[in-house]
Amino acid sequence: EGQLAGRIAIVTGAASGIGRETALLFSSRGAQVLAVDLAAEGLESLAEQAERQGSPLVTHVQDLRAERAAQEVFDVCRARVGVPDVLANIAGKAGDKSADSTTDEDFDFFVSVNLTTTFRMARQAVLHFEEGGSIINTSSAFAVVGVGGSAPYSAAKGAVSSLTRQMAADYGPRNIRVNAVAPGLIETPATAPRIRAGQFDDTVTKARPIPRVGQPRDIAAAFAFLASDDSSFITGVTLPVCGGWSTT
Ligand code: NAD
Repeated sequence: EGQLAGRIAIVTGAASGIGRETALLFSSRGAQVLAVDLAAEGLESLAEQAERQGSPLVTHVQDLRAERAAQEVFDVCRARVGVPDVLANIAGKAGDKSADSTTDEDFDFFVSVNLTTTFRMARQAVLHFEEGGSIINTSSAFAVVGVGGSAPYSAAKGAVSSLTRQMAADYGPRNIRVNAVAPGLIETPATAPRIRAGQFDDTVTKARPIPRVGQPRDIAAAFAFLASDDSSFITGVTLPVCGGWSTT
C-alpha cells in the first residue's frame, strides 16, 4: 500500500522541511530518488540520513530559478538515476507582506520561485516521462484562505492549482497524472520561528477541526499517495492537507 518500488522520483526542495520528509519517505518506500535543492549542506545531511535509514538517494545542487535548471535536473536524473516517472515539485518560498508593501521585484521573485519553477519542471516532466507518471505540485491553503499569507505568494500558489488542472486535462491521455497538495500551516524550518514568535493567530494554529500545527510527515504521506498507484484514478485535484482549516 502506497509502495513506490520501481519508481524514479525527482523531489525538489529536498534539503528542508516538507521536501526533505518527502524524499526520505519516497526512498523508504522503495523509490529511487533524485533530491534537488539549492542548499548544498541540507542535501548532504539528507543523504546521510537516507543512508542511515537504509535507502540511499542521489542529490543534486541546483537553483531552480536559473533559466536552464529544469533541463539540467532531468538530464542529471536520466544520467545518474534513470528515466523519471514521478516529479514532486516542492521547492518554494512563502512571503509575509501585503500588497502595499510588495515591490515589483518582490512580486516577480515569489511568482518565479513558486510558479515559474513549478511550470518549467512540469514541462520537462511531460517531455521526459516515457510511459506515463505522476506530477505532484505544491499549492497552499493560504491560496484559498485569505489569512496569514502574502499577496504574491497566495497568487502564485493559486496559479499552481490552475496549472495543475490544465496539465491534468492535457496529459491524462498519455497516462500522466497531475495533482497538487495544499498544505495548511506545517511546522518546518521556514515557519517554526514565526510560529514560536506567535505571528500566526489562533485561527491558523488552533481554531480548526484538528487543532494542531501540521508536521512535514502529514504532507509527505499525501505526496506518497499521489505518487503511487493507489491514486491511479485521481488527477487534476488540489488535495488540502490542513486539519480542516481550509475545508470546513
Ligand atoms: P522550507 O524552507 O523548509 O523548504 C523549502 C526548500 O526549498 C528549501 O530547502 C529551499 O532551499 C528550497 N528552495 C527554495 N528556493 C529554491 C530554488 N530557487 N531552487 C532550489 N531549491 C529552492 O519550506 P517548507 O515549509 O518545507 O515548504 C515547502 C513547500 O511547501 C513550499 O513550496 C511552501 O510554499 C509550501 N507550503 C508550506 C507550508 C508550511 O506551512 N510550511 C504551507 C503551505 C505550503
